[in-house]
Amino acid sequence: MAPPEAIPFVDLKAQYAALRESIDARIRRVLDHGQYVMGPEVRELEERLEAWTGAKHCVTVASGTEALLISLMALGVKPGDEVVTTPFTFVATAEMIVLLGAKPVFVDVEADTANIDASKIEAAITPRTRAILPVSLYGQPADMDEINAIAARHGLPVIEDAAQSFGATYKGRKSCNLSTIGCTSFYPSKPLGCYGDGGAILTSDDALAQAAREIRVHGDSGRYRHTRIGVGGRMDTIQCAVVLAKLERFEWEVKRRIEIACRYDKLLSSRFRVLKVRPDRTSVHAQYTVRAVNRSALEATLKAKRIPTAIHYPEPLHRQPAYAAMFAARSFPAAELLASEVISLPMHAYLDEAAQSRVVAAMHDALAPAA
Ligand SMILES: *Cc1c(COP(=O)(O)O)cnc(C)c1O
Repeated sequence: MAPPEAIPFVDLKAQYAALRESIDARIRRVLDHGQYVMGPEVRELEERLEAWTGAKHCVTVASGTEALLISLMALGVKPGDEVVTTPFTFVATAEMIVLLGAKPVFVDVEADTANIDASKIEAAITPRTRAILPVSLYGQPADMDEINAIAARHGLPVIEDAAQSFGATYKGRKSCNLSTIGCTSFYPSKPLGCYGDGGAILTSDDALAQAAREIRVHGDSGRYRHTRIGVGGRMDTIQCAVVLAKLERFEWEVKRRIEIACRYDKLLSSRFRVLKVRPDRTSVHAQYTVRAVNRSALEATLKAKRIPTAIHYPEPLHRQPAYAAMFAARSFPAAELLASEVISLPMHAYLDEAAQSRVVAAMHDALAPAA
């Protein structure tokens, strides 16, 4: 018998097939007008994202990582400052804090959502705290109202790391427009991706938006007048054109992701601990992730059936070699537990029912192998 076909973890080819004409036409237009850096598509995309999220300003940047860096710089985060964040995230969240000479102060996550535990944030605030940086992990916003209320009591800004959550909602409002600043990523495999690196900063604060625009281009406030320290952080015109084309199907794709996640929940929750989405918000399921105590057996069984899986993330940041010295004696039990149990399954808007059923069957087989 021929081995079954491999199921893609994220199917960018199927998405391209569905959008080929628009994407090709959009890219060709950039090649024709020749404004490869800061061409008209850059502002066009920013306006579309402002309208989508409801934030007053969008500043596109070179990546999600750059969005975090530029936002922290715009807020004036400097050596000796502290930024409260989660240890259970992609490394860039804490990395940009450290890069500026500041210190990430970790707060443990909730074991059932994997997002920062808002009830533990206040105890982590000190006179040196300069910002709170929650992550909307796997595509679900954190408890933003509670976090914003704590921040307001202490006069702190809140940056939402929304690299995985563009398109999600929280109490009817859009991710990226839930706090002082929202940062997102257009890395190809994110829910809204380009064909390389890209990202965006969203804010309704005029001064922060102006600062971000200047920092994006070497602190230039006009014609080689450098009023602040910046970076080379622009997003290419061609990448903006790709995102503009992908916006045509984005709403449908988000709906599909939510339907697919609901079906996974229904078919898996009897025997696996699926992560919870709180009733007052939606997730765009950048990852569909469950917890399993016997994770390595599960990975091996699925791999043998040509079903790819991934682990987001196998080690919390306080235990990563580059960070461990800073957090030697610290323990974050929920983050550590999740790191040892989480496994992400194939998830994309083009995952059909037959392929999804194959994933689910393989998961159940892994628990109770067929005789
Ligand atoms: C992907 C990601 C980033 C970084 O985005 P890039 O565009 O890859 O630089 C930051 N934070 C989180 C939570 C992410 O998932």
